[in-house]
Amino acid sequence: GSVGGGRVQQTKLVLLGDQGVGKSSIALRFVRGQFPEHSEATVGAAFLTQTVQAQGQSIKFDIWDTAGQERYHSLAPMYYRGAQAAIVVYDINNANTFSRAVSWVKELRQQASSNIIIVLAGNKLDLATEHRAVQTDDARAFAEDNGLIFAEASAKTGLAINEMFMMIAHKIAGKP
Ligand code: GDP
Repeated sequence: GSVGGGRVQQTKLVLLGDQGVGKSSIALRFVRGQFPEHSEATVGAAFLTQTVQAQGQSIKFDIWDTAGQERYHSLAPMYYRGAQAAIVVYDINNANTFSRAVSWVKELRQQASSNIIIVLAGNKLDLATEHRAVQTDDARAFAEDNGLIFAEASAKTGLAINEMFMMIAHKIAGKP
């Protein structure tokens, strides 16, 4: 519940991106602070919540992990309908997943609510020293052109995961 009479801002957040890019791992890292080494592929949509404080407000994230969009793409609009925020994830080490992320961003811009906050997240940064396939500058340029927050992160090490959610929380808290 809320403390000191402050309101709790309920925020629907969806995770989008190819299977295997690390959507579930990002959600679990943020909510539980864990990285399960032997995670099984998510079936259907998992649902997690986490509340953070930003600018004196409580932001409660309802996180929709939309597994298997490749097979169930027709269900996707149901996930992002009414979402205030989306994290579109790609694997920095796999160029195809970046192309798919670009498609997701375009779909969101056309179909989702017009003021949705979108983070473009390059995951698996811990592998990028040897395996990088998407250049930081290219991804950042696309993000800037499309009004996205951009981050490179690792669900495995935890690098930049909390920061990603906090950037969203601050944007939401800062809204009039
Ligand atoms: P999802 O299908 O997008 O939900 O992806 P998962 O979260 O199930 O992750 C797919 C695989 O990538 C799993 O074996 C994870 O352990 C692994 N993985 C996820 N994030 C990272 C990361 O940041 N670094 C590394 N090295 N592996 C990761």
